[in-house]
Amino acid sequence: VPFDSRDGVIWYDGKFVDWKDAKVHVLTHALHYGSAVFEGERAYGGEVYKLREHSQRLIDSAEILGFKLPYGLEEIEAATNATLARSGLVDAYVRPIAWRGSETMGVSAPNNTIHMAIAVWEWPSYFSPAEKLKGIRLTWAPYRRPDPLTIPCKSKAAGLYMICTISKHAAEAQGYTDALMLDYRGYVAESTGANIVFVRDGELYTPQPDCFLDSITRQAVEAIAARHGIKVNRRHILPEELATFTEAFLVGTAAEVTPISEIGEYRFKPAAISELLMHAYLDEVQPKKVAAAE
Ligand code: PMP
Repeated sequence: VPFDSRDGVIWYDGKFVDWKDAKVHVLTHALHYGSAVFEGERAYGGEVYKLREHSQRLIDSAEILGFKLPYGLEEIEAATNATLARSGLVDAYVRPIAWRGSETMGVSAPNNTIHMAIAVWEWPSYFSPAEKLKGIRLTWAPYRRPDPLTIPCKSKAAGLYMICTISKHAAEAQGYTDALMLDYRGYVAESTGANIVFVRDGELYTPQPDCFLDSITRQAVEAIAARHGIKVNRRHILPEELATFTEAFLVGTAAEVTPISEIGEYRFKPAAISELLMHAYLDEVQPKKVAAAE
Protein backbone atom coordinates (compact mmCIF):
# COMPACT_ATOMS: atom_id res chain seq x y z
CA VAL A 1 0.00 0.00 0.00
CA PRO A 2 1.49 3.40 -0.93
CA PHE A 3 2.68 5.36 2.06
CA ASP A 4 0.16 8.17 1.61
CA SER A 5 -2.86 5.85 1.45
CA ARG A 6 -2.54 3.71 4.54
CA ASP A 7 -4.91 3.28 7.41
CA GLY A 8 -4.19 4.45 10.91
CA VAL A 9 -3.19 7.73 12.48
CA ILE A 10 -0.15 9.98 12.42
CA TRP A 11 0.81 12.29 15.27
CA TYR A 12 0.90 15.72 13.64
CA ASP A 13 1.62 18.96 15.52
CA GLY A 14 0.39 17.63 18.80
CA LYS A 15 -2.65 15.62 17.78
CA PHE A 16 -3.54 12.45 15.96
CA VAL A 17 -4.81 12.91 12.41
CA ASP A 18 -6.04 10.32 9.96
CA TRP A 19 -3.04 8.79 8.16
CA LYS A 20 -4.33 9.92 4.74
CA ASP A 21 -4.76 13.53 5.93
CA ALA A 22 -1.23 14.02 7.27
CA LYS A 23 -0.22 16.37 4.44
CA VAL A 24 1.92 19.45 3.71
CA HIS A 25 1.43 22.18 1.13
CA VAL A 26 3.64 22.13 -2.02
CA LEU A 27 5.05 25.51 -1.00
CA THR A 28 6.58 24.17 2.17
CA HIS A 29 10.06 25.48 2.96
CA ALA A 30 11.36 21.99 3.77
CA LEU A 31 10.37 20.64 0.36
CA HIS A 32 12.19 23.41 -1.51
CA TYR A 33 15.19 24.07 0.69
CA GLY A 34 15.73 20.84 2.59
CA SER A 35 14.86 22.25 6.01
CA ALA A 36 13.70 18.98 7.57
CA VAL A 37 15.29 16.70 10.15
CA PHE A 38 14.16 13.22 11.07
CA GLU A 39 14.87 10.10 13.06
CA GLY A 40 14.61 6.39 12.42
CA GLU A 41 13.76 4.31 15.46
CA ARG A 42 12.69 0.77 16.12
CA ALA A 43 10.31 -0.56 18.71
CA TYR A 44 10.85 -4.09 19.99
CA GLY A 45 8.31 -5.78 22.24
CA GLY A 46 6.38 -2.53 22.62
CA GLU A 47 9.32 -0.29 23.57
CA VAL A 48 11.33 2.07 21.40
CA TYR A 49 14.99 1.10 21.68
CA LYS A 50 17.17 4.07 22.75
CA LEU A 51 14.20 6.46 22.57
CA ARG A 52 16.04 9.07 24.63
CA GLU A 53 19.12 9.08 22.36
CA HIS A 54 17.04 9.32 19.18
CA SER A 55 14.76 12.03 20.56
CA GLN A 56 17.75 14.07 21.72
CA ARG A 57 19.39 13.67 18.31
CA LEU A 58 16.22 15.00 16.65
CA ILE A 59 16.37 18.10 18.85
CA ASP A 60 20.09 18.50 18.15
CA SER A 61 19.62 17.98 14.40
CA ALA A 62 17.06 20.80 14.32
CA GLU A 63 19.30 23.08 16.36
CA ILE A 64 22.18 22.50 13.93
CA LEU A 65 19.83 23.62 11.12
CA GLY A 66 18.94 26.69 13.16
CA PHE A 67 15.49 25.85 14.43
CA LYS A 68 14.02 24.86 17.74
CA LEU A 69 11.44 22.12 18.02
CA PRO A 70 8.21 23.29 19.64
CA TYR A 71 8.39 20.23 21.95
CA GLY A 72 10.86 19.27 24.63
CA LEU A 73 12.58 15.93 25.07
CA GLU A 74 9.95 14.46 27.37
CA GLU A 75 7.06 15.67 25.21
CA ILE A 76 8.68 14.05 22.16
CA GLU A 77 9.16 10.81 24.05
CA ALA A 78 5.55 10.84 25.27
CA ALA A 79 4.26 11.59 21.76
CA THR A 80 6.37 8.76 20.32
CA ASN A 81 5.12 6.30 22.91
CA ALA A 82 1.52 7.41 22.36
CA THR A 83 1.87 6.99 18.58
CA LEU A 84 3.34 3.53 19.02
CA ALA A 85 0.53 2.59 21.39
CA ARG A 86 -2.12 3.89 18.94
CA SER A 87 -0.58 1.84 16.12
CA GLY A 88 -1.27 -1.38 18.01
CA LEU A 89 2.16 -2.64 16.90
CA VAL A 90 4.81 -3.93 19.27
CA ASP A 91 7.61 -4.45 16.75
CA ALA A 92 7.67 -1.41 14.48
CA TYR A 93 9.65 1.29 12.77
CA VAL A 94 9.15 4.82 14.10
CA ARG A 95 9.71 7.94 12.00
CA PRO A 96 9.61 11.36 13.70
CA ILE A 97 10.18 14.34 11.39
CA ALA A 98 10.29 18.11 11.92
CA TRP A 99 10.35 20.81 9.27
CA ARG A 100 9.96 24.48 8.41
CA GLY A 101 6.47 25.29 7.18
CA SER A 102 4.93 27.36 4.41
CA GLU A 103 4.20 30.91 5.64
CA THR A 104 6.94 32.49 3.52
CA MET A 105 8.97 31.37 0.52
CA GLY A 106 12.64 32.02 -0.10
CA VAL A 107 15.82 30.74 1.48
CA SER A 108 15.34 32.86 4.56
CA ALA A 109 12.30 31.77 6.54
CA PRO A 110 13.13 32.37 10.19
CA ASN A 111 9.52 32.74 11.27
CA ASN A 112 7.93 29.87 9.41
CA THR A 113 6.14 27.51 11.77
CA ILE A 114 8.14 24.48 12.84
CA HIS A 115 6.00 21.39 12.35
CA MET A 116 6.49 17.92 13.66
CA ALA A 117 5.00 14.54 12.87
CA ILE A 118 5.51 10.96 14.03
CA ALA A 119 4.50 7.92 12.00
CA VAL A 120 4.77 4.27 13.01
CA TRP A 121 4.59 1.31 10.67
CA GLU A 122 5.53 -2.31 10.36
CA TRP A 123 8.99 -2.61 8.81
CA PRO A 124 10.59 -5.94 9.50
CA SER A 125 14.31 -6.39 9.29
CA TYR A 126 15.56 -6.52 5.69
CA PHE A 127 16.48 -10.19 6.10
CA SER A 128 15.92 -13.11 8.42
CA PRO A 129 18.97 -13.99 10.56
CA ALA A 130 19.68 -16.97 8.27
CA GLU A 131 19.50 -14.84 5.12
CA LYS A 132 21.50 -12.10 6.79
CA LEU A 133 24.31 -14.53 7.50
CA LYS A 134 24.85 -15.00 3.77
CA GLY A 135 25.79 -11.35 3.67
CA ILE A 136 24.70 -8.54 1.37
CA ARG A 137 26.55 -7.21 -1.67
CA LEU A 138 27.76 -3.62 -1.79
CA THR A 139 29.45 -1.60 -4.49
CA TRP A 140 31.28 1.72 -4.25
CA ALA A 141 29.16 4.86 -4.20
CA PRO A 142 29.62 7.52 -6.89
CA TYR A 143 29.57 10.28 -4.24
CA ARG A 144 31.60 10.91 -1.11
CA ARG A 145 30.60 12.07 2.35
CA PRO A 146 31.46 15.77 2.32
CA ASP A 147 33.78 17.74 4.57
CA PRO A 148 32.13 18.79 7.88
CA LEU A 149 32.84 22.39 6.85
CA THR A 150 30.75 21.83 3.70
CA ILE A 151 27.64 20.33 5.28
CA PRO A 152 26.22 20.05 8.82
CA CYS A 153 27.20 16.36 8.98
CA LYS A 154 26.03 15.76 12.56
CA SER A 155 22.44 16.65 11.72
CA LYS A 156 20.17 13.87 10.50
CA ALA A 157 18.94 16.34 7.92
CA ALA A 158 16.73 15.24 5.04
CA GLY A 159 18.81 17.30 2.60
CA LEU A 160 21.90 15.22 3.27
CA TYR A 161 20.13 12.08 2.03
CA MET A 162 20.25 13.22 -1.58
CA ILE A 163 23.68 11.63 -2.12
CA CYS A 164 22.43 8.49 -0.35
CA THR A 165 19.48 8.06 -2.71
CA ILE A 166 21.63 8.65 -5.80
CA SER A 167 24.22 6.17 -4.54
CA LYS A 168 21.69 3.53 -3.52
CA HIS A 169 19.87 3.79 -6.86
CA ALA A 170 23.17 3.44 -8.74
CA ALA A 171 24.03 0.33 -6.68
CA GLU A 172 20.60 -1.24 -7.16
CA ALA A 173 20.73 -0.59 -10.91
CA GLN A 174 23.86 -2.77 -10.99
CA GLY A 175 22.25 -5.53 -8.92
CA TYR A 176 23.79 -4.62 -5.55
CA THR A 177 21.92 -4.10 -2.30
CA ASP A 178 23.70 -0.95 -1.20
CA ALA A 179 26.67 1.34 -1.75
CA LEU A 180 29.66 2.12 0.44
CA MET A 181 30.65 5.77 0.49
CA LEU A 182 34.16 7.07 0.97
CA ASP A 183 34.62 10.38 2.74
CA TYR A 184 35.99 13.60 1.26
CA ARG A 185 39.56 12.46 2.10
CA GLY A 186 39.16 9.03 0.50
CA TYR A 187 38.74 7.08 3.74
CA VAL A 188 35.97 4.50 4.10
CA ALA A 189 32.87 6.25 5.52
CA GLU A 190 29.51 4.45 5.66
CA SER A 191 26.71 2.99 3.56
CA THR A 192 23.70 5.00 2.45
CA GLY A 193 21.79 4.33 5.67
CA ALA A 194 24.11 2.65 8.16
CA ASN A 195 27.63 2.71 9.61
CA ILE A 196 30.11 -0.07 8.84
CA VAL A 197 32.30 -2.32 10.99
CA PHE A 198 35.09 -4.70 9.89
CA VAL A 199 36.69 -7.67 11.63
CA ARG A 200 40.30 -8.85 11.60
CA ASP A 201 41.93 -11.31 14.00
CA GLY A 202 39.05 -11.10 16.46
CA GLU A 203 39.04 -7.28 16.69
CA LEU A 204 36.61 -4.71 15.28
CA TYR A 205 37.66 -1.82 13.05
CA THR A 206 35.28 1.02 12.30
CA PRO A 207 35.78 4.43 10.72
CA GLN A 208 35.95 7.43 13.00
CA PRO A 209 32.50 9.06 12.62
CA ASP A 210 33.95 12.53 12.05
CA CYS A 211 31.99 13.45 8.92
CA PHE A 212 28.87 11.30 9.15
CA LEU A 213 26.25 10.20 11.66
CA ASP A 214 27.59 8.67 14.87
CA SER A 215 25.27 5.66 14.68
CA ILE A 216 23.43 4.89 17.91
CA THR A 217 23.36 1.25 16.81
CA ARG A 218 27.12 1.20 16.23
CA GLN A 219 27.69 2.60 19.70
CA ALA A 220 25.43 -0.13 21.15
CA VAL A 221 27.26 -2.84 19.17
CA GLU A 222 30.62 -1.46 20.31
CA ALA A 223 29.42 -1.69 23.92
CA ILE A 224 28.25 -5.29 23.38
CA ALA A 225 31.62 -6.14 21.82
CA ALA A 226 33.44 -4.62 24.79
CA ARG A 227 31.35 -6.75 27.15
CA HIS A 228 32.44 -9.82 25.16
CA GLY A 229 36.08 -8.82 25.42
CA ILE A 230 36.25 -7.88 21.72
CA LYS A 231 38.54 -4.90 21.12
CA VAL A 232 37.13 -2.02 19.06
CA ASN A 233 39.49 0.10 16.93
CA ARG A 234 37.98 3.39 15.77
CA ARG A 235 40.22 4.90 13.17
CA HIS A 236 40.61 5.98 9.55
CA ILE A 237 40.38 3.07 7.11
CA LEU A 238 41.68 3.27 3.56
CA PRO A 239 39.79 1.23 0.93
CA GLU A 240 42.93 -0.91 0.23
CA GLU A 241 42.80 -2.10 3.84
CA LEU A 242 39.55 -3.94 3.08
CA ALA A 243 41.70 -6.75 1.62
CA THR A 244 42.93 -7.51 5.17
CA PHE A 245 39.51 -7.80 6.85
CA THR A 246 37.70 -11.14 7.02
CA GLU A 247 34.22 -10.05 8.11
CA ALA A 248 32.23 -6.86 7.61
CA PHE A 249 28.77 -5.76 8.66
CA LEU A 250 26.45 -2.76 8.59
CA VAL A 251 25.02 -1.30 11.78
CA GLY A 252 21.98 0.94 11.91
CA THR A 253 18.49 1.15 13.34
CA ALA A 254 16.89 -0.23 10.19
CA ALA A 255 19.79 -2.52 9.19
CA GLU A 256 20.39 -3.73 12.79
CA VAL A 257 23.53 -5.88 12.32
CA THR A 258 23.67 -6.98 8.68
CA PRO A 259 26.70 -8.99 7.51
CA ILE A 260 28.31 -8.14 4.17
CA SER A 261 29.70 -10.65 1.67
CA GLU A 262 31.07 -8.26 -0.91
CA ILE A 263 32.21 -4.65 -1.31
CA GLY A 264 33.36 -3.91 -4.85
CA GLU A 265 36.45 -6.06 -5.47
CA TYR A 266 36.67 -7.26 -1.83
CA ARG A 267 35.10 -10.44 -0.37
CA PHE A 268 34.04 -11.20 3.20
CA LYS A 269 32.65 -14.27 4.90
CA PRO A 270 30.18 -13.67 7.72
CA ALA A 271 31.56 -15.77 10.58
CA ALA A 272 31.69 -16.09 14.36
CA ILE A 273 31.98 -12.40 15.28
CA SER A 274 29.23 -11.18 12.92
CA GLU A 275 26.97 -13.97 14.12
CA LEU A 276 27.68 -13.29 17.77
CA LEU A 277 27.06 -9.54 17.48
CA MET A 278 24.00 -9.99 15.28
CA HIS A 279 22.33 -12.22 17.86
CA ALA A 280 23.61 -10.27 20.87
CA TYR A 281 22.19 -7.07 19.37
CA LEU A 282 18.77 -8.67 18.78
CA ASP A 283 18.87 -9.81 22.38
CA GLU A 284 19.97 -6.40 23.65
CA VAL A 285 17.10 -4.53 21.97
CA GLN A 286 14.41 -6.62 23.65
CA PRO A 287 12.86 -4.80 26.61
CA LYS A 288 14.45 -6.05 29.78
CA LYS A 289 12.01 -7.67 32.18
CA VAL A 290 12.49 -5.99 35.53
CA ALA A 291 12.58 -8.65 38.23
CA ALA A 292 9.35 -8.50 40.23
CA ALA A 293 9.81 -7.02 43.68
CA GLU A 294 9.36 -9.46 46.54
N1 PMP B 1 24.19 6.62 8.69
C1 PMP B 1 23.12 7.01 7.99
C2 PMP B 1 23.31 7.78 6.74
C3 PMP B 1 21.83 6.67 8.44
O1 PMP B 1 20.75 7.05 7.75
C4 PMP B 1 21.68 5.91 9.60
C5 PMP B 1 20.32 5.53 10.10
N2 PMP B 1 19.80 6.55 10.93
C6 PMP B 1 22.82 5.50 10.29
C7 PMP B 1 24.06 5.88 9.81
C8 PMP B 1 22.72 4.66 11.52
O2 PMP B 1 22.38 5.42 12.61
P1 PMP B 1 21.55 4.83 13.83
O3 PMP B 1 22.24 3.59 14.27
O4 PMP B 1 21.68 5.91 14.84
O5 PMP B 1 20.20 4.57 13.35
